Amino acid sequence: MDTFPLFLNLQKQHTLVVGGGDVALRKCRLLLSAGAQVQVVAPTLVAELAQWAAQGQVVWLARDYQSDDVIGQRVVIAATDDTPVNQQVFADCEARGILVNVVDNPALCRFIVPALIDRSPLQIAISTGGRAPVLARLIRTRLEALLPQGYGTLARLAGDLRDAVKARFGDNERARRRFWQSALEGPAAEQALAGDSAAAFAQLQTQLAQADDTELNRGAVYLVGAGPGNPDLLTFRALRLMQQADVVLYDNLVSPAIVDLVRRDAERIYVGKKASNHALPQQDINALLVTLAQQGKTVVRLKGGDPFIFGRGGEEIEELAQNGVPFEVVPGITSAAGASCYAGIPLTHRDHAQSVTLVTGHRREGEIELDWPRLTNPNETVVVYMGVAQAPRLCEQLISHGRAADTPAAVVQQATLPQQRVLIGTLATLPQQIAAAQIKPPALIIIGNVVSLADKLAWYRAQQTA
Ligand code: SAH
Repeated sequence: MDTFPLFLNLQKQHTLVVGGGDVALRKCRLLLSAGAQVQVVAPTLVAELAQWAAQGQVVWLARDYQSDDVIGQRVVIAATDDTPVNQQVFADCEARGILVNVVDNPALCRFIVPALIDRSPLQIAISTGGRAPVLARLIRTRLEALLPQGYGTLARLAGDLRDAVKARFGDNERARRRFWQSALEGPAAEQALAGDSAAAFAQLQTQLAQADDTELNRGAVYLVGAGPGNPDLLTFRALRLMQQADVVLYDNLVSPAIVDLVRRDAERIYVGKKASNHALPQQDINALLVTLAQQGKTVVRLKGGDPFIFGRGGEEIEELAQNGVPFEVVPGITSAAGASCYAGIPLTHRDHAQSVTLVTGHRREGEIELDWPRLTNPNETVVVYMGVAQAPRLCEQLISHGRAADTPAAVVQQATLPQQRVLIGTLATLPQQIAAAQIKPPALIIIGNVVSLADKLAWYRAQQTA
């Protein structure tokens, strides 16, 4: 983080704007709307500012800026086009520890004025650290469209009910949070958004009166598929649960960019799992899920790809079911689907492959062992998970059981992520290519005639990176 985000309470506080032009006018308007007392120092003012000064909305010092002007101010904004003056204002404030902003000059800013979506009391501030204000405004425009005005009403009503909710749940912070979660997503929200604040408030009160403690204190486990790694490929359900979690268990297939989207106050537990280096053995993970849920927590078990495709999700829910822990499984995009799309290799194709088989190259002990004769159909695509270490034996066995040595084959490492690598060859050449390029897990091997389409689809990759 380059800057520390905060919302400043400036009600009745002394603030100073240096300059009397249009930019100064905009800054004065913003400060006034936050309830600040505004002083303006400038030899002349634009008409509207002059009018505010005449009406006493701002105090005008009709002269050039002097260093002493900053004394006693909480916040100072320099909005002149005179560089030495701006520098002087910055230096004067820094010397006294006063928050200062020189408009359009990030180097001379102790704070930044963000782009703002105002549904007071709900506010969303957007900053690019002064680097790309236009981008911040673009994002603001998009969010503006997403957020109905009624959210301001909802925030105000929630504020009105806040003390009652606190009294009802006392120190039980978790139950309180769950109450708000369901209340703010329920019918009261719809009523507030529809503009009926009286009905919305009555609804919130009813929900509070009927809140069920057993329900609000109950823990649960969500086995959530996090997709192949790119955060764009999360489902909405995954993201919502990640935002509600008390604790999140994740392993190394879940990319840091995805872990970043977890609710900030949630506990994060890394449970590892690389082929041979288990940070936590599977039985311990299963037991931990049960213990955490029995403590009443909302537990999110984030799993790479889809939980039920080579994810041991089945074992985890078995343990939960045996212990009477409520659970839900949320599907994710499995890495075969992600790799296929991002490498431009369709897994099925009318002319090349009528079926696709997903297999794992990982065995509890020793060498890869698959039903080889079943994998030799030239019109079938085979996708091998956890197979790179065993690539030589895999390709050799397929060839010796009758799949053509020149069958196109690809390996896709870190599919869907910016670091994605794709190598294309044949069953005969792929093991050597994997070794030479030092391909490491996570990687998938895709075998079948569809791989030959990757070249034809090269334009597609080019478009994705353009
Ligand atoms: N449940 C996961 C699979 C877990 S097994 C899923 O549905 O995708 C782990 C294997 O998945 C890895 O060894 C690798 O073969 C594959 N994998 C997972 N993420 C991947 C990615 N981003 N790129 C390539 N392969 C990946």
